[in-house]
Amino acid sequence: MTSKKGGENVSRLRTLREILGSLKRRKPTEKYCPKCGNPHIHLSSKFDVWILPEQYVCDKCGYKGSVVLEVEENRVENKRNQ
Ligand SMILES: [Zn+2]
Repeated sequence: MTSKKGGENVSRLRTLREILGSLKRRKPTEKYCPKCGNPHIHLSSKFDVWILPEQYVCDKCGYKGSVVLEVEENRVENKRNQ
């Protein structure tokens, strides 16, 4: 929804800064296969991306879908402390 005329470089820089800032603040989430719990799951974006927005593929069991288990790192840390 942003205008591409004028100030494109500025807004792009700002967006990049915001992304970097949020990356520093937000802890990365671990993604797991909902079928077998395999953490080695990757986004399939070779040719499916124009049909479906996001598809995850599990190398272990062959699961393919947009639903994955996401565990935030800080949540895991909290569990360890308790
Ligand atoms: Zn799997």
